Formats: sequence, structure tokens, C-alpha cells
Amino acid sequence: MERSRFVIEASEAESKAEKAGLTVMQLLPSLVNSAQKLARPPISKYHVGAVGLGSSGRIFLGVNLEFPGLPLNHSVHAEQFLITNLSLKAETHLRCLAVSAAPCGHCRQFFQEIRDAPDIKVLITSSSDQEFRPLSEFLPNRFGPDDLLDKDTPLLLEPQNNGLSLVNAIGSQLVNTGCNGVCACDQDSLKYEALEAANKSHAPYSGCPSGVALIDSEGRVYRGSYMESAAYNPSLGPVQAALVAYIAGGGDGYEEIVGAVLVEKEEAQVKQEQTARLLLNLISPKCEFRVFYCNIGMKRRRIDGES
Ligand SMILES: [Zn+2]
Repeated sequence: MERSRFVIEASEAESKAEKAGLTVMQLLPSLVNSAQKLARPPISKYHVGAVGLGSSGRIFLGVNLEFPGLPLNHSVHAEQFLITNLSLKAETHLRCLAVSAAPCGHCRQFFQEIRDAPDIKVLITSSSDQEFRPLSEFLPNRFGPDDLLDKDTPLLLEPQNNGLSLVNAIGSQLVNTGCNGVCACDQDSLKYEALEAANKSHAPYSGCPSGVALIDSEGRVYRGSYMESAAYNPSLGPVQAALVAYIAGGGDGYEEIVGAVLVEKEEAQVKQEQTARLLLNLISPKCEFRVFYCNIGMKRRRIDGES
């Protein structure tokens, strides 16, 4: 099975570009069409493909996802998929991207979470001018992390560790029962995968990081970290992020997801549990969903005034 269609390694990207007599950046638009075919938009039938180049030289794909039966705000836009895909592969910067349609306002805003976002170059393949233009031309007078965070706070794609640890077993909560016998619901490891995802979560605005780990019927695990936006609404939930990992990792039908764990703080102002349950119940009704709570552990980031 081809499991890496959503990432092209740097060496392969270079040889593809060389064969075509192009730079890797110039190669991006030619990959948009095949990316669009991977989209899953059963509501709009509008396939969006985004192809981005990371600072490592790797190429990443993003596509839009829609979920019939749920409000539209559960959808994942291709550009958000792309950014999530970069973060899953520990890519620390997005240099440029080609996308099949003009990025919507929501995505222009979401991009602002990346450092030096105004300099990211964007080419729209459906437009008459096939030029890369800086994101600052698409979103002048931006509102972003600079307005709310100090300069030292890690931004999206930058390495971060929220220093979370699981509270003891008494604090955990078994939310759904009814194991269908296929799942690995008693596998302890899934909660640690979700904890790892929560530790990488970008939640500097609410201070409420969270992470999800999914397991499929073949025992493969997919992690997703919650990612916040300075403007709040374009934030991407941890289940959506884990579904990006599932699809980018070669996952097929959502019903093959048999187990899910969410890790978040019990006393959080921003909680994912209800929304996560709603989405998972709809796309994979037999998936066993559990929630575990976490605390800021010993490795927490230092907060001014505390030692
Ligand atoms: Zn969008």
C-alpha cells in the first residue's frame, strides 16, 4: 500500500524538479491537480488541493475534508490539512505553497500562526497569473500572534512541549463502553500517544492544550494535536488533526478507526470532549472513545513569577 502520498521526500522532490527543468518551488503547481483527487468533500463536492514546500525541502500535500451530518465548522480546509501535515512530520517552516483556489479568509488567518507568515509565498493555480505572491498581499493589516503573545512563545510548527502528565487513574474517565471486540481499548499505550499529542498542542491563547490518538483495526496509531489561532475560530480540533494523520498515513474509511483517546485538562476553559465525541460517533459509530485528564507536570514552561 502506498502510504506516503502526502509527503514527498526532499531527494525525490529535487529529482522530479530536475527532470522537469524546474526548481522545486516551480514544481509545486504541477502537483496540485493530483492532490485535489485525494480530497474528501462529500458535501460541497469541491475538491481543494494545496501543495507546500517545507524548509527541509520536503513537499507536503493538503486536501479538504467534510463530514456529512455535522455542522460545517467541523470541516478541514486543504491549507489546514497542509499545515497539520507539516507539523506531523516535525517540519518547522512552510516556505511556499500552490493551491487550487484562492485561500479563504479563515485559512489566511490560520497561516498567521506560523512565524514570518507574511513572507510565505502563495500561488493559485486557477488564477490567470501564475505567480507566487507573499501572504501579506492576501492578508494585509493582519491580526496574529504578535498581538497577543510575547516573542518567546513557540508558534505553530516550532518545537514545543507543554510539560503535561496524566493524572492518576482515579482522574481518568471511561466515557464510552461497548467494546466491539476488535479494538485495542485496553491498550494503555494509546493514552500515552494522546498525551504526547497534547504535549505538542499549540494552545498559547487559552492555555488548554489537548491531543487525540486514534487506532485502526490493524493496530496502527495516528496522533493529532489541537492547534489554536489568535482569532480563535480557525482553530483546529485534535480529532480533525488526528484524522489528517489518519488520511496522510494511508487510512481509508473512517469506520476502520476503532479506538480513540483524548487527553485534556479536567478544569479547562476550552474543552474538546463533547465535540470530539460528536465527530467520532458520527464517522465511526463503533469507535470506543475515552478521555484522560492531564496536569502541567514538572517540566512545565516557566511562568513569570514562578520558579
Ligand atoms: Zn480555507
